[in-house]
This record gives sequence, C-alpha cells and structure tokens, in this order.
Amino acid sequence: MTRFMTTAIHGKEQRQKPYHALVTPICTTSTFTFEDMDDVNRTQDEYLAGKYLERMEYGRYGNPTQYAVEQRLAVLEEAEAAILSASGMYAITATLLGLLSSGEHMILTQDCYRRTRGFCSTYLSRWGIETTIVPACDIEAIEKAMRPNTRLIFTEVPTNPWLRVIDLEALVEVARAHGAKVIADSTIASPCNLRPLALGVDLVVHSGTKYLGGHNDLLAGVVLGAEDLITELRELHFHLGGVVAPQTAYNLLRGVKTLDLRVEHHNTSGMAVARFLESQTQVKSVYYPGLPSHPDHDVAMRLMSGFGGMVSFEIAGTREQTSAFVDALRIPYIGPSFGGTEALVIQPAIQSYCGLSVEQRLAVGITDQLVRYAVGLEDPDDLIEDLAQALERV
Ligand SMILES: *Cc1c(COP(=O)(O)O)cnc(C)c1O
Repeated sequence: MTRFMTTAIHGKEQRQKPYHALVTPICTTSTFTFEDMDDVNRTQDEYLAGKYLERMEYGRYGNPTQYAVEQRLAVLEEAEAAILSASGMYAITATLLGLLSSGEHMILTQDCYRRTRGFCSTYLSRWGIETTIVPACDIEAIEKAMRPNTRLIFTEVPTNPWLRVIDLEALVEVARAHGAKVIADSTIASPCNLRPLALGVDLVVHSGTKYLGGHNDLLAGVVLGAEDLITELRELHFHLGGVVAPQTAYNLLRGVKTLDLRVEHHNTSGMAVARFLESQTQVKSVYYPGLPSHPDHDVAMRLMSGFGGMVSFEIAGTREQTSAFVDALRIPYIGPSFGGTEALVIQPAIQSYCGLSVEQRLAVGITDQLVRYAVGLEDPDDLIEDLAQALERV
C-alpha cells in the first residue's frame, strides 16, 4: 500500500497505455466496435458475467477515461468500487432511487445540501417514500426516528453552513442495530480529511465539482462502496444515463493527482482564516470544526485529519453592513461552491435561502449576518489582509 499522495497519482493506473502515452488518454468515442461475430459472442458472455468494464460497448455503459477515474477514487476512498457521474446531485439522487422502494422510509439529517432535502421531500414523497428530517448530529433523535421500514440514513459530514460533524461510528451502530444502511455525503471533507467507509458507512458520495476537481471548472459526482452495492446501483445508472463526459473525466483525474497538496493548503488557510476571524470584534461568531469553540470539535478531532477550507461566520452588524463587508472583499468572488483554486463567498440569507420567508430562514439558523467563506489556493496572508480591510467597513 502506498501513501495517499502517491496513490493519488499512481493508484490502479494502467502502466502501459495506448500509444505508450504517460497520461491517461481522453477516449472520446461514443461506441466501441467488434472484430467479428465471434468477438461479439465472446463479449456478450463477458457482459453476462458482469465484466462490462473490461471490454466496453457503448458510451453510456462506460468509457476508459471514466473508468480510470473511478478506480483512482475508489483506492483513495478505500472503496471496492465507484460510479462516476455527471454531477454530485445525480450521484445522490440515483443512489437514493437505486436503494429505496415505495413504502420504505429514510432518515435525513438537518442541514444537508438544499437540493438533497428538496429531492427527498418533493419527489421521493410522491413515489411513496417517506423521509424524516432530524436535527444535525442528534444520534438520539435518529434512534427515535427509526421505524421497521427504515431502509437508510443519509447524512452529510461536515454539513453546510454550520460545518457540523456527526459521530459516524455512533450513527453506524444505530443503523446496524436496525438493519439500515448509512450513506454519507462527504464532499466538504474530501477523502483527504475523512474516510467514512473505514468507519463503517455503507456508501460515500461526493460532488466531484468541489475538492476532487479542485479548479472551479467542471461538474461531476461519484458514489463509492462495496462491489455488490455499486453493481446494483450501476444497473440503474445504465438506465438513467447521467454519464460524465470523457473530457470532464480527464480533468477530474488531473485534479485528483494534486488533491492532497491542494486540500492541505485549504486546511491550513481555513484554519488561519477561522482563527483570525475569531479574534475580530466585528465578528460575532465563527463556525469551523478546527476551532475548540465549535460544538463538534472533539468529534471532528477524532474522525478527521483536517478541517477544510470552508469557514462560516456572523458579522456583528446588520444585513446591510454584512453585504457591505462582502462587497468590500477584493479577493474572493461572490458565488456558490467551494474547494477550488479561487476563494468564494456568499451571504446565505440573500443567496442560497432567498426562497424562504424570514421565519423559515431563521428556523434553520440562517441569519442576515451569516457569511460563508471558502478559501481558494491563494496565500492565506493575502486572504486575511483582505478580510481585515473589509471588516473595517463594518
Ligand atoms: C455541491 C454539493 C452537492 C451537489 O453537487 P453538484 O456537483 O453541484 O451536483 C451535493 N452535496 C454537497 C455537500 C455539495 O457541496
């Protein structure tokens, strides 16, 4: 077993590639052909034996560039298998559709990705699947919400924007006792900072759009886990067809090679920015799991090896003063997403939660003064100087 940084570059890499190329080629074909009918017959037998990834037939069933990324991400996440797809939301929705049947029940932890919650409450409910939403990190509430037909628990670690870190080991224990599966969206941690499968979680999903891609230039998603579960999900994926384009798969593979270097930098900068903000009088509160003041600091210290580049905080001021602060920032762009080269910032009350009434927004803790800041790969000293000058406007 090599170490993470070596595995990110060489893990499951085919040493000899077409044309003796050093890097994995972008295979842009939509169809794969056969030499003769004997070849067709042989291949059909292989497909029936489940070996559809060794000899590809049609682009929706697999592409060599996509396959190379799946294998790389699987070794990094300590998974047996993975499915790479068109976006993080596709990976999540296809996984839920693949595992759940009408009449079943699932549990979702609060402050999961907004679209994940929307999919469960608006669509799964239409198809006879009930979802109970429980407060983040409340293992007791999860235990109480379990029913005989509870098939799975879906959680996010850490969550957004509060960066709550659920005790995955305790969660897995509850799920196992009830015969339910656990799925963790570990996008905000990345495989560098957290390895949920090693803690007993059944499936991990990531939005490849964030840390894995890492350059704010692609959309992708991945689900990882044991071979039998992934094979079951792959069958549905063949029907749904949300494949990733070969060019995008290549860009993702290129990003993954520097994942560890980049996430280390995000971890260092995230921590520096969080500490700086906590020392400022114009900042009311800071939410970062690496800070001892965070409610889940102890759990995070136990489960995670770094805390990432996202920092949430509240400005000691009004909604308008908070907007003025965001406007005064010169380095981050105003925009959603995180985990890439460029720092990004949003004021969630105005941006991600604008569809809710003030009461609904406050009920989920989204105050007017909340800012979500995601460091990029800039020098943290520059980011801090920039934050300092913007805070003077408050
Ligand atoms: C971005 C994100 C998603 C959705 O991923 P897309 O690639 O945008 O579809 C899901 N979960 C989390 C935690 C995310 O940050």
